[in-house]
Amino acid sequence: MISSDRRSLGEFELIRRCFVRDRPPWHVGTRLGIGDDCALFALEPGEVLAVTADTLVAGVHFFSDVDPADLGYKSLAVNLSDLAACGAEPRAVTLCLTVPEAGPDWLDRFAAGLFELADRHHVDLIGGDTTRGPLSVTIQAFGAVPGGNALRRSGARCGDRIFVTGTVGSAGLGLRMLDGRCTSADGEALLRLLRPEPRVDFGLLLRRYASSCVDVSDGLAADLGHVLTASAVGAAIDWDELPLSPAVVDYISTTGDWSMPLHAGDDYELCFTVPEARLAAFTGEARAHSTPFRAIGRIEEPRGLRLRRDGRTIDLQPDGFDHFA
Ligand code: ADP
Ligand code: MG
Repeated sequence: MISSDRRSLGEFELIRRCFVRDRPPWHVGTRLGIGDDCALFALEPGEVLAVTADTLVAGVHFFSDVDPADLGYKSLAVNLSDLAACGAEPRAVTLCLTVPEAGPDWLDRFAAGLFELADRHHVDLIGGDTTRGPLSVTIQAFGAVPGGNALRRSGARCGDRIFVTGTVGSAGLGLRMLDGRCTSADGEALLRLLRPEPRVDFGLLLRRYASSCVDVSDGLAADLGHVLTASAVGAAIDWDELPLSPAVVDYISTTGDWSMPLHAGDDYELCFTVPEARLAAFTGEARAHSTPFRAIGRIEEPRGLRLRRDGRTIDLQPDGFDHFA
């Protein structure tokens, strides 16, 4: 995409054209945005700042011929998903962008995808850096947690019910369609991979009910495994309760690769635990929410993660994506 775009922008022209908005910031706390040496950003009294960052590298996290609008969208989505997992309300982001060349068409599309999601969640882009080099995108996101009662990975207790939002394995199927490992075509799976829906509002609701929460970025087994380690507990999940799309069910019956939805990453759903005493109130309120969710198992005393499938209990290794494994 980049190499077919002949015109090139200067660094400051690029920033002004693509990243400085012609609308006021979403938040009064955004005191100073793009254009100075630092951005200035204020929280309300009593709020705690939640901070997260994620880098997407061409050839590692996405194919370099990706639609730049999808890349802009997803770079922000993965960060908003981390804020959602902590029950933080998104406020502002910085963008560190490295591009091989400054093609205006590519950059315009990238910015359009980014701001499409930013505006949906009222997120201000307050600064960043722009450099030339192999394509990579780093976004750092800042969210607010009123009263400081953020969700953490460490609060799961024995007897808590385990839930997951949306479906698992859909993005994994989308990736297998793109890289040719799977020949079926499912638009929904591709959409889940390219345009994941960060569960921001649901994360805010969970702050009142969940004992722990994590976002599923590296695979359900790996990310639930992080919760179990941080909480010093174990868990059992039921195969029959896993939320699988019809296309993923088809994929499993064709290939026999039943563990894909447990180990494939990129779903950006929330996996969380709710204590028995809060279950009724939680389901009562959450059912009115547009985000689907499903109980998939229970926190138990014995360490490790177990899967109940066809009357058997299988020990699951917390394998997920690991850059250095
Ligand atoms: P400095 O050299 O002082 O770090 P820069 O010249 O790199 O500043 O950037 C100028 C302004 O543009 C700064 O406010 C910076 O935060 C902002 N900026 C640079 N790149 C981006 C980007 N990709 N997205 C948003 N803001 C950016
Ligand atoms: Mg700079």
